[in-house]
Amino acid sequence: PTEPATNELGAWDRDHLFHPSTHMAQHARGETPNRVIVGAEGVYIVDREGRRSLDAFAGLYCVNVGYGRKSIAEAIARQAATLPYYHAYAGHGTEPSIRLAKMIVERAPAGMSRVFFGLSGSDANETNLKLVWYFNNVLGRPEKKKIISRWRGYHGSGVMTGSLTGLAAFHNQFDLPKAPILHTEAPYYYRRADRNMGEEAFSQHCADRLEALIQAEGPQTIAAFIGEPMLGTGGIVPPPAGYWPKIQAVLKRHDILLIADEVITAFGRLGSMFGAGHYGIEADLITVAKGLTSAYAPLSGVIVSEKIWRVLEQGSDEYGPIGHGWTYSSHPLCAAAGVANLELVDELDLVANARTVGAYFKGALSDAVGGQRCVGEVRGEGLLAAIELVRDKDDRVFFDASEKVGPRVAAALLAHGVIARAMPQGDILGFAPPLCLTRQEADTVVDATRKAIAQVM
Ligand code: PLP
Repeated sequence: PTEPATNELGAWDRDHLFHPSTHMAQHARGETPNRVIVGAEGVYIVDREGRRSLDAFAGLYCVNVGYGRKSIAEAIARQAATLPYYHAYAGHGTEPSIRLAKMIVERAPAGMSRVFFGLSGSDANETNLKLVWYFNNVLGRPEKKKIISRWRGYHGSGVMTGSLTGLAAFHNQFDLPKAPILHTEAPYYYRRADRNMGEEAFSQHCADRLEALIQAEGPQTIAAFIGEPMLGTGGIVPPPAGYWPKIQAVLKRHDILLIADEVITAFGRLGSMFGAGHYGIEADLITVAKGLTSAYAPLSGVIVSEKIWRVLEQGSDEYGPIGHGWTYSSHPLCAAAGVANLELVDELDLVANARTVGAYFKGALSDAVGGQRCVGEVRGEGLLAAIELVRDKDDRVFFDASEKVGPRVAAALLAHGVIARAMPQGDILGFAPPLCLTRQEADTVVDATRKAIAQVM
């Protein structure tokens, strides 16, 4: 028999597979669900027991075109049969990676010119940090090296990118390097602003905090600021009005580069092709991953502006070939998936769908649960939305993370056949469905959410 029984597979899983972001002891003891997913179609996944769930988180905010897209599967298969791999070192190329780089630059905000490919959002952000340091060395500014990130920002879980991530759970017991990373105020209006402070005033407060940090450290020591156009894993929080223009004014004043981490937001999630375009951000470097291939194959990219590129060119004239790259940079199978995926995003007009169905979804969620005392806020942009669960909205009494209201509501939601994500903070329920979501599917998610909240809260 080649098919192990479910319980046997479960035992192998507990004994041999080291899962990311999982309570290791509980999983080994069999106390956490080990749901084995065997198939998927459209916005639904199917497990070994044949249970279907509407995946309102698109895996991990990544299966943007939905599951079961034959054109992507066929593009990968064709590429595997023709040329599974050749490296991209020393100027070598493969057709899909060249095509994909061109497609990305054509879609990116003005001023972007080159793409460096990696495999994950984390490795792309590691590349960003190295490029920023290299840039300042070439320009003869060896002390301009510190990087400012934000509390609640998520930028990966590598050594330096874990340091950039401003969430305690990703630092816990890992001894990640603190220098040269600094953190500043999160643009989290709902929780961080004083009650009678307007959004613009809170944005000014964030910009003032950034300015104060830069002054305290010395502007000549700060190389770059990294931020997601809209906070993702840190709580799915759209920036308050005026945030990005005010932040950018500070950065420009001190000649600090801006890295837009668009791992979640690029290629349509917010209802615009890029989050930078959506919020008028002028980035020097843009990180992309997830929606680049809709996770049909692992691929990330650093989109480099012409301004940075010119200095990198100058660097290789001075120092020789850049000593940076991965074996799998520009991997042709992944790039073939990326080309087919971006073609599908265009063909199905998914950016527009994210905008219109996203607005419908957020409105329907607000109507269904927004008035409840236990719902502090329904927020979002495009097809990225969250519900902040609170003990008492009017008196602003919040839950303790240990009460795990988010996981409890997510579990109830799953029992109703819908997957949402209990965000790491414990009291935020996140939604990031595939961008092909229909209104009817949005209604299914909203209906299940209403029932789950009524059951648990
Ligand atoms: N940056 C952002 C904004 C992310 O949301 C993520 C992952 O969720 C990453 C970086 C890290 O990407 P990866 O998990 O592919 O390393």
